[in-house]
Amino acid sequence: ITIGVVRETAAGERRVALDPETVARLTAADHDVLIEFGAGEEARFPDSAYQQASASLATRSEIIDQCDVLAVVHAPGADTIALLRAGQFLIGLLDPLNDPVLVAALTQTGVTAAAFELLPRTLSRAQSMDALSSQASAAGYKAAVVAADSFGRYLPMMITASGTARPANLIVIGTGVAGLQAIATSRRLGAVVTGYDVRPASRGEVESLGARFLTSSIAEGAAAGGYARALSPEEHELQQTELARELVTFDIIITTAKVPGRTPPLLVSAETLTALKPGSVCVDLAASDLGGNVSGSVDRKTVVTAGGVSIIGAGDLAAELPTSASAMYARNIHALLESFTTDNQLQVDLTNDIHTAVLICHNGEVVNAQLHARRL
Ligand code: NAD
Repeated sequence: ITIGVVRETAAGERRVALDPETVARLTAADHDVLIEFGAGEEARFPDSAYQQASASLATRSEIIDQCDVLAVVHAPGADTIALLRAGQFLIGLLDPLNDPVLVAALTQTGVTAAAFELLPRTLSRAQSMDALSSQASAAGYKAAVVAADSFGRYLPMMITASGTARPANLIVIGTGVAGLQAIATSRRLGAVVTGYDVRPASRGEVESLGARFLTSSIAEGAAAGGYARALSPEEHELQQTELARELVTFDIIITTAKVPGRTPPLLVSAETLTALKPGSVCVDLAASDLGGNVSGSVDRKTVVTAGGVSIIGAGDLAAELPTSASAMYARNIHALLESFTTDNQLQVDLTNDIHTAVLICHNGEVVNAQLHARRL
């Protein structure tokens, strides 16, 4: 199989779909790998490292022309998609649930397209392919580091000859994969950490990391598949009032609260922001074009309020840890490719639950139940 990797073109994206280590595993298994010149540069993987892993360097058009599989982080632009053809495979974080135009364009080309967002994450056989988790984990780690970097004070308690510093009080709102990693990392940095979520099941996970769990009065915020459900307007109001009371005691707020297919809930209101101490920091991992968890957060920008609170919009923070995030992502690609490979040939099996879940389209037709359900 010939696997191609192109340079990512999305603004601020520094990751690459395959790292040299995974390329070496693929070439050792008799696959050919084509890497676009400079594709790994931003992730600190020079072209020479790919050559040492027995990949060939090529131009974008040579890769599109020759590859059986195109591995990407994000969907390539419309020009590249238009060049794809039936029989080729596209694998990536293609965001099909939010991008019907892309789904239509891919289906029209006849490619077989697989999106990590559609993977059944709770299946244990699929865990090595779970790119949402690997990237959320990288983002959660980086959120704690970014928060510490922007905060003008120490995170740990410091007792020195020149005085004593009290530890920073930090809360993580939304304790899924990213939130738990943010908790673990900020604990290592010495902050006093609290976690908060509407899924009661997350209490045990937060406490096992040595953090306090802030109890919510939302009785049951979990829905199918282990995700949170969207709250009713009354529940949302109750939550905002409850949180507003608690949040004023924190120096650092990291938010990661998302509900699949919905705009993220607003959890830190403008009023709460005015009550925070000057120098406080909010890192909003839910920030996107649609808004975020923190009032006034703007994705990929830092906004400082009149009261001296920094709001860091950080919707895709995994891209800011490009070397580790790419290495983990490459392993997810490798595992997903293995599931589609029989006798060194790509094979789609529409009786395989991973294949039916993860595929957007195959042979010019949308084959995904979730996408079909959205169209009705
Ligand atoms: P996510 O990115 O969709 O959301 C992040 C967190 O925000 C979640 O914990 C969610 O409960 C929380 N949230 C949503 N609305 C909220 C609100 N109004 N107030 C407070 N918190 C709110 O979630 P995720 O990190 O992708 O994971 C979701 C769940 O799936 C977790 O339980 C995770 O452990 C589970 N999961 C399981 C597996 C597996 O079994 N292998 C793999 C991945 C994730």
